[in-house]
Amino acid sequence: ATPTALQVASATGARLGVFIKGHRAVESARRIDTVVLDKTGTVTEGRMTVADVAVADGHARQDVLRHAGAVEDASEHVIAAAVARFARAELGALPPVTDFAALAGLGARGVVDGRAVVVGSARLLEREGLPVPESLGAALAAWADGGHSAVLVAVDGAVCGALALSDTVKPSARDAVARLHAMGLRTLLLTGDGAAAAHAVAAKIGITEVIAEVLPADKAAVIARLRDEGRRVAMVGDGVNDAPALARAELGLAVVDGTDLAIAAADLILVRDDLDVVPSALALARGTLGTIR
Ligand code: ADP
Ligand code: MG
Repeated sequence: ATPTALQVASATGARLGVFIKGHRAVESARRIDTVVLDKTGTVTEGRMTVADVAVADGHARQDVLRHAGAVEDASEHVIAAAVARFARAELGALPPVTDFAALAGLGARGVVDGRAVVVGSARLLEREGLPVPESLGAALAAWADGGHSAVLVAVDGAVCGALALSDTVKPSARDAVARLHAMGLRTLLLTGDGAAAAHAVAAKIGITEVIAEVLPADKAAVIARLRDEGRRVAMVGDGVNDAPALARAELGLAVVDGTDLAIAAADLILVRDDLDVVPSALALARGTLGTIR
């Protein structure tokens, strides 16, 4: 039998590192007008490192690192791993944590040395009613300008310090965005990170539309809202957090290193952790529809 256009596209796709799950993907790719990209781990490498530490007046650097490190050692977020690694490198062994709780898209909490510790975004600390001391203001402003993500640390109800995290933008991201624009597509950066860090990354890669500080559970709702506004949305993501958003989009693209869950929710699976596969996959899927018709 002669191979179908989908089979031909699938063979070409396999060479590019693109797996097309079915006709739905091919048809959706033709219709989309907006590509929403998840920031951490999709546009960026997702390998965070601690770039700086700031200590509030009246507190000690060692306490900030000890308490934050202990709680983050029990967390699974890429930010948490970076904080725990950094604290351990500076202090050696970290104390145990009890009453640990992960707060999705916000941070984590636990009890260390009998003291209540909260580690996470500015939004989390605000939600907890913990004011950020003025003595941290200059460092936080400088980090925001530099595009760093900030993590705040509170012990027994007082914010005692903060850490700046940095992540590298994938070398392929800027070109990939330019190719999407050349194909007539609009791009949008979607993230749970703060607005300053998100805009800094967006500017580096040529994206002007940013939706930041979105909780993992709300990403799918953002996609639904964009579709309600009449946009035909493709979503590119990686993590477990992104699976509902991938499923809600007209077309879901999972970049591997992705999780099994995100892959199950995707229509196109990109097995090269490189963003230039995104425009290639869309061009391939769009071309295929032409031959089917
Ligand atoms: P993204 O959408 O970029 O993949 P997430 O939704 O996973 O990001 O996280 C959003 C934000 O929540 C992070 O930028 C960080 O500020 C905060 N956060 C989440 N988990 C942690 C943690 N374990 N420690 C510190 N901050 C955290
Ligand atoms: Mg992510």
